[in-house]
Amino acid sequence: MKKSFVFFIGLGLVLWSNPVAAQLFGNFNLFSIQDDIQLGKQVEAEIAKNTQEYPILEEARYPVAYRELRRIRDEILQSGMVKYRQNFEWKLYIIHDDKTLNAFVTPGGYIYVYTGLIKYLDNEDQLAGVMGHEIGHADQRHSTRNMTKQYGVSFVLGMILGRNPGQLGQIVGALSGNLAGLKFSRDMEEEADAYSVKYLARTRYQCNGAAGFFEKILSQGSGKEPPQFLSTHPSSQTRVRDINQRAQEEGCSTKLSGQPYEVLKNSLP
Ligand SMILES: [Zn+2]
Repeated sequence: MKKSFVFFIGLGLVLWSNPVAAQLFGNFNLFSIQDDIQLGKQVEAEIAKNTQEYPILEEARYPVAYRELRRIRDEILQSGMVKYRQNFEWKLYIIHDDKTLNAFVTPGGYIYVYTGLIKYLDNEDQLAGVMGHEIGHADQRHSTRNMTKQYGVSFVLGMILGRNPGQLGQIVGALSGNLAGLKFSRDMEEEADAYSVKYLARTRYQCNGAAGFFEKILSQGSGKEPPQFLSTHPSSQTRVRDINQRAQEEGCSTKLSGQPYEVLKNSLP
């Protein structure tokens, strides 16, 4: 009994160490939930140190902004559809940078929203749509799924088993050094969009709020340099169409919630 157990573990390791076999597991993730949390915490610490690139808005000076953003986050978390609602901290940070239309999330659910994005959007439903999208990335564990694929299974296993000390640090460095450029696959972007709709369907927000954001970007046309959000979140009419189609399938409300977005906007510097 013990022997066969060891055999199957061994066989599993051999299979997983094979990159071709790894390819077969699209949603395969060798990291544990604790790894996601630990990675997130380390990236959070790296970002806190890099105040030039990530000037975090101080909560003590802008309590209303954080309160309002948390209200939106909590409504999404209370949708009952966020799998790791209890496991992850879902900490929020506002980055004081009006020129950047972006938001991003680390593994383990540390969410960063730029003041530029909050100011750009027209209503709370659009922001909820974007936040739902980011929560979707973390909750579906896209970063560690990506890393399992990218770095290869044997590398990740070695790291987890402690054979490659220091490499976790390298990965954290790579993640936090180029967070805005942290690339998810097209499939992952679609999945995050789909989850945004699923979450918002169970809130008071219009469930296709994320589409509202992309429509606004599209309607602005070219002329200016493309918003930074597009470099991490490839936008297209297809994406708007897909989000709206998901909303139709869910049968959820696409009416604006009418939440007073101005409170949040006016609370920013
Ligand atoms: Zn995304």
